[in-house]
Amino acid sequence: MNKALRPAVIAGNWKMNKTRSEAKALLEELRPLCKDAGCQVIVCVPFTDLETAVAACQGSNITVAAQNCHWAASGAFTGEISAGMLAEMGVRWTIVGHSERRQYFGETDETVNKRIRAALDQGLGVILCVGELLSQREAGITAEVVSLQTKAALQGVSAQEMGRIILAYEPVWAIGTGKTATAQQAGEVCGILRGVLEQLYGSQVAQAATIQYGGSMNAGNAAELLAQEDVDGGLIGGASLKAPDFAAIIQAASR
Ligand code: PEP
Repeated sequence: MNKALRPAVIAGNWKMNKTRSEAKALLEELRPLCKDAGCQVIVCVPFTDLETAVAACQGSNITVAAQNCHWAASGAFTGEISAGMLAEMGVRWTIVGHSERRQYFGETDETVNKRIRAALDQGLGVILCVGELLSQREAGITAEVVSLQTKAALQGVSAQEMGRIILAYEPVWAIGTGKTATAQQAGEVCGILRGVLEQLYGSQVAQAATIQYGGSMNAGNAAELLAQEDVDGGLIGGASLKAPDFAAIIQAASR
């Protein structure tokens, strides 16, 4: 499939930023800036901002996502939020397996897989993050690491459900560091990931899948990264916190 036929998706990961009033202000500023976007726009906001964001994005082309969900439907999991709770609020997507969850909160390939299963079962779409550490890149095992992460995360996910999975390649060494992967590095690993999807699901699913790059993407480097054949969008942290910066990236992804 031609790249132009795949959905281009720009998602902002706000991480632990923005109070409810700040979230409302940011989305009100963003709405008019991206009303003519030629790509899909998602904002992944903190749990406390979800209700505000869903209301602020009503009638716009911005879709609201969470940054994580738990695998159980309910129960004794203090501090966690279930996929069903998100779906009932009008949330449509969730990030799963972000490297900050893997690094700081004990997320494993197994728990990533369980969270994805729960999200899909509740009708949510998933932005699945995979990526290598700097030491793994330097050891020449990037392809192996991201392939294993992807295969483990997608265990039990059907070809049909792949329509609700976005894969985000996020080299850990490039997240929040200001160090961006070169366009060539990003394109190469996104291509490897498409190859993994082809192995798992065949060529049609692999060619239709949206694969994002994430890691210090900004208004200045977005166009070059997004021009890569296998880079269909971006997952953006820092640069999604200012409406004009995020809008410039959306513009760069628009077709
Ligand atoms: C992210 O949080 O997924 C991310 C890519 O962050 P940043 O753009 O700040 O590197």
